[in-house]
Amino acid sequence: KASKMLVVVAVSGGGYVAYAEATPEPKLISSAPVIDRVDNKKQKIVVLGTGWAGTSFLRNLKNPNYEVQIISPRNYFAFTPLLPSVTCGTVEARSIVEPIRNIVRKKNVDVQFTEAACLKIDAQNNKIYCHSNLENNLDGQEEFVVDYDYLIIAVGANVNTFNTPGVMENCHFLKEVEDAQKIRRTVIDCFEKASLPTVSDEEKKRILHFAVVGGGPTGVEFAAELHDFVNEDLVKLYPGVKDLVRITILEAGDHILNMFDKRITSFAEEKFQREGIDLKTGSMVVKVTNKEIFTKEMKNGGEVSAMPYGMALWSTGIGTRPFIKDFMTQVGQGNRRALATDEWLRVEGCDKVYAIGDCATINQRKVMEDIAAIFRKADKDNSGTLTIDEYEEVIKDICERYPQVELYLKSKQMKNMVDLLKETTDVSKGNVEFNIEDFKTALSKVDSQMKNLPATAQVAAQQGVYLAKCFNRMEEAEKNPEGPLRFRGEGRHRFRPFRYKHLGQFAPLGGEQTAAQLPGDWVSIGHSSQWLWYSVYASMGVIWTPRREAVGGTWACLGSGGHCGSNC
Ligand code: FAD
Repeated sequence: KASKMLVVVAVSGGGYVAYAEATPEPKLISSAPVIDRVDNKKQKIVVLGTGWAGTSFLRNLKNPNYEVQIISPRNYFAFTPLLPSVTCGTVEARSIVEPIRNIVRKKNVDVQFTEAACLKIDAQNNKIYCHSNLENNLDGQEEFVVDYDYLIIAVGANVNTFNTPGVMENCHFLKEVEDAQKIRRTVIDCFEKASLPTVSDEEKKRILHFAVVGGGPTGVEFAAELHDFVNEDLVKLYPGVKDLVRITILEAGDHILNMFDKRITSFAEEKFQREGIDLKTGSMVVKVTNKEIFTKEMKNGGEVSAMPYGMALWSTGIGTRPFIKDFMTQVGQGNRRALATDEWLRVEGCDKVYAIGDCATINQRKVMEDIAAIFRKADKDNSGTLTIDEYEEVIKDICERYPQVELYLKSKQMKNMVDLLKETTDVSKGNVEFNIEDFKTALSKVDSQMKNLPATAQVAAQQGVYLAKCFNRMEEAEKNPEGPLRFRGEGRHRFRPFRYKHLGQFAPLGGEQTAAQLPGDWVSIGHSSQWLWYSVYASMGVIWTPRREAVGGTWACLGSGGHCGSNC
């Protein structure tokens, strides 16, 4: 079974390695055949993508009254939180993938999988245009059209290079299993190159300089994994060059891991400094050549300097796939970063099209009004003001309902909204009552951030589960259009809107230490959190390879999808 999994990875990798931007530009294929339906009596759901969102939808869809067609250039699901561990061999690639056909074969729903990429969505005619990525000897048969009754877009995102010159050509990315495998080979190649007798000392230093651009969770985890890999394994194998190795993290902001609690950020920064990982905060990368990275200091008058490097990982966030951009223009969303949906995950401006995961964002237009309503409800004497205690209750309510508010405050190193209020109203906690106007002013500061859920597996998986449950109950709901009694007040919608539940997040920091930030301001850093992290994944069948050798084992179960990810 394990070796079959490897083949799956290898086959799917063909022609699709530099994923992020290698996706072909959309083009209309007018002569391509339309794929027949299996059963004309059933409504057809087309799912684009086999990542966290798409797979979680498939796993949870139980209604046999639909015909489902999955289209994805990847015939397997990949457990992305463990990709950094694959780069250094702590976890084998085969342990974090599961063939999609394996997942769907166990279902009682009629599901077909086609390995292809969608190039264009024609929402007016309920059709999508596809292109197989298995290009050998298909003699033009690689293009086809699929019609749908419902379309679920779950295609994730591209890497975002911010159009920085030289990044695509010279940097590695870490989004796919193939990326992780390529990084692993490149790290070893750097050590081999630096061990060649013809290479000068200066050149050895350059080759063994590993630069990580972006101090978010992926960059930090990769730097930590690489540091352990070098110090525990490679120093023994390459004793002659071990003292020349350098790892640098380049971050444009003032801190790394800035979406985590301040205690975690400080711990990570101090740990890295102790271990000799070079942290360059306030450094923005402006250009990359094959041997040098050019950075601009955010302070010190914007001075630009060049830094020689051997291998660079670019991990600075995500962007929109070209065919999604094209679709967004079609539906009047051309100026957005991601596909906007309503709170029922339906794409705005389209009928029967849904978007979930990293490619989507919920347009919570009413978020401010909702929050103001919570405030008014707490204001029992109708005075327009709240005491500190009442205020704390309101904040708790808001953070439960909109976890992104809490995440935003954390990212700004604020404990809660009282800190934000203090910034905007110049009051001190304990002796002043807050009124609704102060409160609204404070909220407007976080308004745009509140509308965006974080792009994580946790959000994508929860959206997949939610949408599958809606489809499972769709007919029942159509028979009772008013919905369950308790929702009749809202009237217009058949289902409760999607609500994200933030379950916390982990940041593995290397050296058997992990930082965990769980709801309720609970922070734990160290070996115990590492064990918590191990147990979460061990419960999913992931096998660690302590000496970074190939050990069998297959990651298998994802449960109900809603509680997986290293944000668990
Ligand atoms: P993806 O999982 O990216 O899936 C997209 C799918 O769409 C893929 O199957 C792809 O092949 C397919 N696709 C692409 N183009 C097309 C096309 N044209 N037509 C059809 N299909 C297409 N999140 C956490 O919560 N916790 C973590 O610890 C964590 N760690 C991470 C570590 C790394 C290294 C990375 C890269 C991400 C991590 N994330 C983590 C983020 C998480 O992986 C993403 O948020 C999640 O994968 C988003 O799910 P998705 O289904 O939207 O997209």
